[in-house]
This record gives sequence, structure tokens and C-alpha cells, in this order.
Amino acid sequence: MTKNDNPLLSIQQFPDYDKIKPTHALPAIEALCKSTKTQIEELLTNAPVSWDTYEKIEAIGDKLGKAWSPVSHLHSVMNNEDWRNAYQACQPIISQYSAEMSQHSGLYNFYCGLRDSQAFTNYNTAQKKLVNDAIRDFELSGVNLTDDKKAEYQKLAQAASELYTTFSNNVLDATQAFHLHIKDEKELAGIPDSAKGLYQQLAEENEVEGFWITLDFPSYYPALTYADNRELREKLYYAYVTRASECGPNAGEFDNTTVIEAILAIRSDIAKLLGFENYAALSLSDKMASDAETVIKFLVDLVEKSKSQGQAEFAELKSFAKEKLGLTDLQPWDIAYASEKLKQAEYAISQEQLRDYFPVPSVIKGLFSICQRLFAIDFEGTTQLSKWHDDVTTYIIKDDKGKIIAYFYMDLYARQGKNGGAWMNGAIDKISSSEIQQLPVAYLTCNFIPPVGGDVAYLSHDEVVTLFHEFGHGLHHMLTQVNYSPISGINGVEWDAVELPSQFMENFCFEREVLAGMTVHKQSGEPLPDDLFEKLTASKNYHSALQMLRQLEFSLFDMKIHAEYNDEDPQDVMKTLAQVRKQVAVVPAPEYSRFPMSFSHIFAGGYAAGYFSYKWAEVLSADAFSKFEEEGVYNEITGNQFKTEILEKGASRTAMENFVAFRGRKPTIDALLRHNGIQARG
Ligand code: ZN
Repeated sequence: MTKNDNPLLSIQQFPDYDKIKPTHALPAIEALCKSTKTQIEELLTNAPVSWDTYEKIEAIGDKLGKAWSPVSHLHSVMNNEDWRNAYQACQPIISQYSAEMSQHSGLYNFYCGLRDSQAFTNYNTAQKKLVNDAIRDFELSGVNLTDDKKAEYQKLAQAASELYTTFSNNVLDATQAFHLHIKDEKELAGIPDSAKGLYQQLAEENEVEGFWITLDFPSYYPALTYADNRELREKLYYAYVTRASECGPNAGEFDNTTVIEAILAIRSDIAKLLGFENYAALSLSDKMASDAETVIKFLVDLVEKSKSQGQAEFAELKSFAKEKLGLTDLQPWDIAYASEKLKQAEYAISQEQLRDYFPVPSVIKGLFSICQRLFAIDFEGTTQLSKWHDDVTTYIIKDDKGKIIAYFYMDLYARQGKNGGAWMNGAIDKISSSEIQQLPVAYLTCNFIPPVGGDVAYLSHDEVVTLFHEFGHGLHHMLTQVNYSPISGINGVEWDAVELPSQFMENFCFEREVLAGMTVHKQSGEPLPDDLFEKLTASKNYHSALQMLRQLEFSLFDMKIHAEYNDEDPQDVMKTLAQVRKQVAVVPAPEYSRFPMSFSHIFAGGYAAGYFSYKWAEVLSADAFSKFEEEGVYNEITGNQFKTEILEKGASRTAMENFVAFRGRKPTIDALLRHNGIQARG
């Protein structure tokens, strides 16, 4: 195939979705990985160590990025057999390429050369940060080790990744090994029809009559939350919290106990090999939080501020369960059930009831109008970009002088072959160099219920929040004024700060004025009435202290097992959990509970010694929004400051520098507590 007939090889401004076919993926990715490597080697050999050379290297890498982006995007949103095969064929090539590049000593030396050069002192802040970040990332990949140690590192990294797979396979197998086969529908009283439909479908798949309940979350959750049958709840709960452990109905069969021990030992070895005291220190080395002590202090502080309210919430739940549900001894398997009943008794509000108020066109208009007012930008539909599906809408963003600054694709509705969930991805990174001039382009993907008949689509309030969240990520990507791709938009932003703009945008969905501006009832045409608005805001904080404490328990457990690991005398994680629970938990857990054995976020995913990031970013977003509460939700000056100090800056400064520049001080936890309706006592 020649360059001319493979549209992935010649992407300039936008991918040409009318022409890209699955058959283009592999040849393009193969060719580009190869040519990128060759061209970089050549530059490293022949070109001077200078910023000009950096820009050339960036441009070469960008070409590959631009080809890979539509391939992985189409794999996520137009998934069929051809795209899956094409993607799977490319993936090992991309992984191999990334692994090679992250340990490339020639490139590492090049960046060190830039840092040590005369010119470096004259670089601007962004350039300096880019160089230093690159050096740090190479070092975190083990580039600087002797050959022996490099081999050891690779061995450990390989072993770790195999253990992660074993861990998740055990969780998956344990989840699938258990089911309840219910023949009599009476036993399912209280469970909504949608869930019962799922159980029937599962029964059919397993070729039996009746209902089939599994431990997969969509199956487990409705039964635990709604089933009046207490014995059924207990059976399911017992199986669920003992998954992949030495307890429970499949005791010892998929036990992750020794897998966790091995993971912690290997992580400790990796950290020490790279010169860190422990794995927590390694994990925090590229995050906003400076060290484990700071994180633990931060979490404990939140525990202290939330605990008495958590106790009060639990006491209220207990007395409600006793008086209204006849549950005199509230057990762990009753909590979700009683909690849902109490919520209904107190707020009587359903997401479905709210849906009629949120037609998509009004919601989008409302979203755009907030951004217009706050950030002085304009939105315009465009037909300039080719699309992968008719549902997709495309837009231009202009600044207040009418200059185009970004483009985006909005793909809102669920359809076959589209991955679930909602996300924002960069399609094109902003670059402005002697080699490339390009504006940022974003993909905004959601899975809302599509329009029915000739009508427009309607969103639940939760979905409106999701849209605002993803749009916040989008603004971070698109309003960037940074000219170099590794630190423009959300690229290079610390993991524990990247959710700041997204969670920040969510706040607007609970503002009276904002909601009034974007709600139009399906029949009456009226905006959201006051009583529904009040119920909505009140229910937002239902059991917020209990939820906060649960997240804090997970976060503290995660940080402690990684920060306090001692390879001479490895502690039993269940003991660490018991200590943490003593300090944090309000809700009792049975002795047999083995929650860590299925905690995939930290034992199989990327959240190791990083689970606290959820709360950390929430503190930032709540505190940032509180400035708007102080100075007016639509205050243009504050909006402009948020844009120029945070959204536009990307990773050209540290997240803390961005925050302080906007807020005039370091973040505090007060706004988060207030937004959660938690009155700190004691
Ligand atoms: Zn997010």
C-alpha cells in the first residue's frame, strides 16, 4: 500500500473518517513505528542537542500519535470484528514501541543534554518543565540503571504484570464461580423488573427455568439493594465479600492472599531498584501529593472531620431499619437495602422523574452558555470534519476575537459496537513549533439513551452531570495555550489533579440559575420547579459522610500497605485493614469479609498507592468552585482566572502552582466538606 491510499499516513488537521478502513490500521502503524524509530535514531546521531531538534522529534512522534488515535478511537466506538482484529494486531507493536521508547538511553541522554546545555537557562518555564518531566519519566522506567539492574527491572516488571493478570483472573473466576438459581419469583419480591429481566435472561443463557443471579455488579447490586428477602441478601453478600479468598462458598479456590503478598514484595523491589524507599514514594514521585506522610495526614484529617456525622447517619439508619423495616439487628447485608428505603422515604425523587426536564438540545445550549460567559469562548457547529457515524456532531471553539482555537466531536448516544461509559480523549494535541502548527481536537463520548421516534433525547440528571464532567476534561484539552504536546492540554498533568476541571464543571449542575436556564419539561415546557430542585440538592448529600468514610478507608489502606511495607517482616494486609477500619469505619463488617482480595484498582490496575487521588482531586475542584461561590457563579473575572491559570496552563507548571495562581493560596478541605453537607465537628 502506498502512502497515498492509506489515509492514516497523511493526517494533517483531522482524520478522514470517510476513508479510514480497518485494513489501513496495521500497515500504517507498522510503517510509522518503524520510520519513527529510524528518524529519531538519525536525529540523535546527526542533529545537535537543541530545542530545534526536540521540535523535530516531537513532530515525528506526533505523526504516529495522530495515526494511532483514530484507530483506538474507532475500536472503542465502532467496534466490530474487523476493527477488533485490526486493533489487536496493532497493539503489540504499539506496546513494544512504547516500552522501547520509555527506556531509550539515546533519547534520555538527549534530554539530559538539553537540561545541561547553556541554552537551558533561557528556556521558558514550560520548556524547562517538559525537559525535566521527560528525564523523570525515563528514570522511572529504569533507563538509568546498569545493564544488570535493567534486566532485573524488566524481569520484575514482567513478573508484576503477570501477577496483576493472575489477580484479576482470580477475581473474575471467583465472581463467575458463584450463582443463585431461583425458581420461585416470590423470593425476588422488591427487586425491580429491569433486574428481574436480567436474571431471567441469565437463566435462559444457562438453559434453566426461573432466575439466575450472579456476583457481577449489575446482577448483584439490585438484589442487595432491593430484595425484601433477607436470606437471599445474606447469601449474596457472603459470596461477594469473600470472593478470591480463603473464605466463602468457594473458599481457597481462587485465593488471592499469596498473590497480594507477591505483588507487594515485587513492588517494594522495583521501588528500591529505582532508588525509592518504598512503592508509595515511587508512585507519588510524579503526583501532586508530595509524600505518603502528607497523604496519610490529609486522609486522617478528612476522617476526623467526617466521623461524627458518619456515626449520626448510621445511627439514623439503624433506628429507621428497626422502626420501619423491623430489622432490629441491622447486618452488613441489610445496609444497602435499608439505605435505599430511607432515601426514598426522605427524598422521594427519581432520576426518571427528572429526565423529562432535560432535553439534550437545551442541556447543550446551557452548557455552552456557561462556558461562553465564564471563559469568553464561542461555539459553532461545523461540517468541516468528517464523521464516523451520523449521531456525531462536530463543533468549532472560537475565542472572544473570533479566532478558532479548537475543534471537537460529540458522540452522545449508546449504540451497538460502542464501548460503555463516558470519556474524553484527545484526537489531536495542540502543537505550535517550527515543524507543526496545529489546534487541539477532542472526542467527547457518552452512552446516553438515543432519541426515540421523532423526538429529541432526554437526559437524567446523573447523565447531565456526566456530560458536564467530560466537557470539563474537554475544556482542559481544548483551551490549552501550551505549545508542546507532552505538556499541552491534559497531557503530563499529575494523576491526582487531572480530575480538577471535570469535577469542577459538575458543580454547575446543582446551581439553581444554571438548571433554570437549561430545563424545559417535555409536556409543560416549564423549567425545573423549586420543590424538585430542593429535593435534588438535598438528596445529593444523602449519606455523604458514610460514603466519604468508605473511600477514606480504601485510600488509607492502599497508602499504608505500600508506604509501610517491610520486606523483612511483611505484614498481613488483613491486619492492616483491621487497623485502618478501627480508625475510620462506622459501619461494621463481618469477620469473614475479605475485601482486599478483590480490590483490583490497586492490585491489578493503576491506582496502587494512588487511590487517594479521587479525594485529592475532589478537594481541588471543590475549593476552586468555592471561589465562584464567593464571587458569583457567573463571575467573568473568576472565570477568566480559572481559564488562564488552570485550563490554559496544562502541565506547563505543576498542578500546585496552577492552583495557587488561581486561588491565591494552597487548597483546603473546607469546601469539599461543605459541598458534601458535612459539618466538621471536633
Ligand atoms: Zn474524569
